[in-house]
Amino acid sequence: MSQQKAAAIPMVDLTAQYPLLRADIEAGLQAALSEARFILGPNVQALEEEIATYLGVEHCVSVASGTDALHLALRAAGVGEGDEVITTPFSFISTAEAICYVGARPVFADIDPRTFNVDPAAVEAAITPATRAIMPVHLFGQPANMPVLRDIAGRHDLMLIEDCAQSFGAAVNESMTGSLGHAGAFSFFPSKNLGGYGDGGLIGTNDDKLAVEARMLRNHGSRQRYYHDEVGYNSRLDELQAVILRAKLPHIDDFNQQRRSVAARYTDALQGVTGLTIPHEDGVGRHVYHQYTLLCEDQAHRDRLMAALAADNIASAVYYPVPLHQQAAFSDLHDGSAVPALPVAEDTAKRCLSLPIYPELALTDVDRIAAVLRR
Ligand SMILES: *Cc1c(COP(=O)(O)O)cnc(C)c1O
Repeated sequence: MSQQKAAAIPMVDLTAQYPLLRADIEAGLQAALSEARFILGPNVQALEEEIATYLGVEHCVSVASGTDALHLALRAAGVGEGDEVITTPFSFISTAEAICYVGARPVFADIDPRTFNVDPAAVEAAITPATRAIMPVHLFGQPANMPVLRDIAGRHDLMLIEDCAQSFGAAVNESMTGSLGHAGAFSFFPSKNLGGYGDGGLIGTNDDKLAVEARMLRNHGSRQRYYHDEVGYNSRLDELQAVILRAKLPHIDDFNQQRRSVAARYTDALQGVTGLTIPHEDGVGRHVYHQYTLLCEDQAHRDRLMAALAADNIASAVYYPVPLHQQAAFSDLHDGSAVPALPVAEDTAKRCLSLPIYPELALTDVDRIAAVLRR
């Protein structure tokens, strides 16, 4: 009998949900192609209204990517040259890039070792007279400690801009992430919880002025065609992406619930395995499991687990192997002085391991993955 290699399990499988969405997407695309209103067309406008209702915010301004959403939100909030923005060192680079784009300086505050989100006490300790804003990330889909961060921002009169790229549909009590600060920035990158079939992003806010400003910035600083109040950008969401996102939006709560079921199955199967720390839900908000991320004993342990998974045709990934304060791109932030020590982020980067997770991942596949890790 020939040895059969087990079927591959990827980190994400974007083909798995297409059958469910196909009729809506194809009908929507055909209609949009016939109408041919490709720039800031009717689907873009409808999507902004639908997401504003979903998030419970006054305004949504769609843009070309999540990175642009962060950038334009900061600029629309008036953050700029000479300002400091306190953020997490344990995130995708966009979070800190956006701060640099507006001429401000990212200041990294260490994370909570259990949730991987920025530690509010470290944020408060990092405040200086130059601090203008706090930018928490709801990492892996778990809301950052917004009640405490809102209190800190309020007491120090700081802007609070949420990086919601991984948290579409996550909430604190009944309030969605993206509605908890002055503005929230979302990404529609294909693998995100609400992903398009290309790049896209969106800013949600209850601040009328910020919304008007962001709307101008995304369209060359213009309110009226060929009249430009300031130098802006070309950063608009594509009409065809809006069609796809509108088809997905009614399913997002189901998708997130399925992610939570996958996570619960992993947690049941991995609880008590020596050397593995399963994700900690701190109860501050509802986790939507953009990623299911374990902590291993050390880097060598992680390497062994990744190799064992790979031998069984199972993908795994390290988000993120290098914390932002240690990235070469930000070396000039430290002005030649020593790179600040952020021990929790540095330790986490060496030990974290993300497993496959997506709404359609079969629970039997979760069991197969867990069995390899238990072995
Ligand atoms: C994906 C991501 C972004 C950037 O989104 P893009 O749409 O890829 O530009 C920003 N922040 C975090 C935390 C992300 O995961």
